[in-house]
Amino acid sequence: MSTLTDRVNTLGSHLRAQYGQRVHKLTVSAGFICPNMDGTKGRGGCSFCNNASFAPQGQDGGAVRRQLDEGRAVVARRTGARLHLAYFQAYTNTYAEITRLKALYDAALEQPGVVGLSIGTRPDCVPDEVLDLLVSYQEQGHTLWLELGLQSAFDETLARVNRGHGFAEYQDAVRRARGRGLAVCTHLIIGLPGETPWHQRETLARVLNEGTDGLKLHPLHVVRGTRLSRQWRAGEYRPWTLNEYVNTAVDMIEMTPPEVVFHRLTATARKPLLLAPDWCGSKWTVINAIEQELTRRGTRQGARPLHSDSHLPGTQESC
Ligand code: SF4
Repeated sequence: MSTLTDRVNTLGSHLRAQYGQRVHKLTVSAGFICPNMDGTKGRGGCSFCNNASFAPQGQDGGAVRRQLDEGRAVVARRTGARLHLAYFQAYTNTYAEITRLKALYDAALEQPGVVGLSIGTRPDCVPDEVLDLLVSYQEQGHTLWLELGLQSAFDETLARVNRGHGFAEYQDAVRRARGRGLAVCTHLIIGLPGETPWHQRETLARVLNEGTDGLKLHPLHVVRGTRLSRQWRAGEYRPWTLNEYVNTAVDMIEMTPPEVVFHRLTATARKPLLLAPDWCGSKWTVINAIEQELTRRGTRQGARPLHSDSHLPGTQESC
């Protein structure tokens, strides 16, 4: 019986091929803030982002080391993995003075077993000096991933959810990062307000046309304390069903060239923070459903290349 990794180029299998053993991501929260909250790009943040407890802490290298120590111990017990990527995940992990960024990234890379960094950020927050710093780590032999939150390639959608940037900023960031040889992982959200499966496939087509090395797919969660939760309560937003999500995700997997690495096919949130949809509370429900749909179609990543998208049923359903 085939497994997901027979049909999808996952980050786990990609790293295992690179290092000859399992490599586990360890999440680091380094106390960054977000320019879409502090007024630099906008206020209030993205409509789906729970920032009610937003409290920048300005953590230092010691905090980074402690988090990696704790994460390493948990992962060693659970999976036995001895190598790690330090994943700077919370808020905007390039939004600080370059000296502070270097101190935090250095602290992570000095930890035993840390073979690289994954840096999550916004496309409008990666100046050249930050990219050059990341390239310098790569030149020292570390693995580097720049994770850019795009979510949608449609400017009207990005404005609707108050992202504070458009597709042009993403194009600029990708060109400068990949032009330096940095690997880019693009984050896309499936089910944004006003979007349909056609928008998701079109967003992917634009991203692939621009060039990317990795993708993260994420269902839109309605969580407490967000503008989206108020829109949902008012009946102005309908969350996608599991079936809609899985069909769209599998369409996108089929469109994606085999060499692009899928870092994630779904993401979860927990109650009581999660309001809707319920299926977002269970990662394995979604992963298993994606695997079953890939098997049912007898398909795999790259089976339906980009140029054939115009033949997908429903391609023009709303635009
Ligand atoms: S989703 Fe990211 S960019 Fe948007 S408000 Fe939250 S931290 Fe900022």
